[in-house]
Amino acid sequence: MADLRELAEFGRYESGVNRRALTPEDIAARAWLENRMRQAGLDARIDGVGSVIGTTPGATRYIVVGSHTDTVPKGGWLDGAMGVIFGLEVARAFVESGTGGDIGIQVMSFNDEEGRFAGLMGSSVFCSLKTLEEVIGIRADDNTTLASALEDAGYAGQPVAEIDPATHIAYLEPHIEQGPLLESRKKKIGIVTEIVGAERCRIRFLGQADHAGTTPMAMRRDAAGALYDYAVRFAGFCREHGGDNTVWNLGNVGLEPGAYNVVTPESTLYIEYRDGSPEILRRIREIIPVLATEICDLHDVEYELDDGVRAQPAAMNETLINCIEAAADKCDAPSLRMPSGAGHDAMLCAPIIPTGMFFVPSIDGRSHDIAEDTKEDDIIIGLRVLSTVISGLVADGSPLINQTH
Ligand SMILES: [Zn+2]
Repeated sequence: MADLRELAEFGRYESGVNRRALTPEDIAARAWLENRMRQAGLDARIDGVGSVIGTTPGATRYIVVGSHTDTVPKGGWLDGAMGVIFGLEVARAFVESGTGGDIGIQVMSFNDEEGRFAGLMGSSVFCSLKTLEEVIGIRADDNTTLASALEDAGYAGQPVAEIDPATHIAYLEPHIEQGPLLESRKKKIGIVTEIVGAERCRIRFLGQADHAGTTPMAMRRDAAGALYDYAVRFAGFCREHGGDNTVWNLGNVGLEPGAYNVVTPESTLYIEYRDGSPEILRRIREIIPVLATEICDLHDVEYELDDGVRAQPAAMNETLINCIEAAADKCDAPSLRMPSGAGHDAMLCAPIIPTGMFFVPSIDGRSHDIAEDTKEDDIIIGLRVLSTVISGLVADGSPLINQTH
């Protein structure tokens, strides 16, 4: 808890933290973390993309424990930070007690999970989904390139850490829930079954500008009317044909020119939807142009569709799901299996090495805000569950150790 609270002082903003990746506050926090790892007896370094890595000495295989220490603008003190400090604490206990044998702990703080430059940047490079060359040209909103930010921080030119299924036997990411489910169900541990996939697209309806007083309704080519109608039908389809956990968001509407007395010639709608099932995602993806064609016939407009990012759902490792569930039982912590609606570094590790993730409750479900908090007792229960999972994995005969993923 002392480490977590000390980390929260870097970039403190009222009751929260403002520590975007590679800002001076974030660089100071990385230096602090690296130093804290060394004090705990770990081999520590910051790699060429700014991820902080601490490794217990003397092992040949590692359980990777981590998350991220950057935050969203004016964010909370636990999102990411808790998982990294949990890793540090478990690694410290390994060194102090001399446990683990040839299995050690590798603590990871992946850089820029929250996307000042690119979301999941550190873990994308760690998982070899992107090369350093592919990311260093990316610019932040203030026009800083990642290359110059890494250079200024002194990280440029350092070797980049890479995932290795031969030596990284598992990835565990403890995290705050960032939603209200655990609290409302009176559970202490949420065992993540999968991180949902998310898809985005932008649809534009093209009609014709006319006088809104003189053009009869039946003769209009009203792109605003088309958009409203589309939005209602899309939500209706998701409600009827989605799954229990399907979520969708029509997060932005643009109307041109946006006047009382002009029939709208052009409208734009941002669509995002998430689910853990590739089948449900496909169903929604396929209905989008079908509904658009119906609406265009009805309103005498045309449409254009721009596909945005598509993130595949990532299933967590079944053995680790069972291990976390058993550990929660052992710690008398009521648990619940649930999907993660938010993206995490774990979604990139999951296809490569056995990956497990669990949540502790967020007070009032609040996150990505300075109001974000978790009861101290619940944080401690989370750490007990993690250490119980890891104790089980390093014990002889663990099914995971020899599992090929
Ligand atoms: Zn996070």
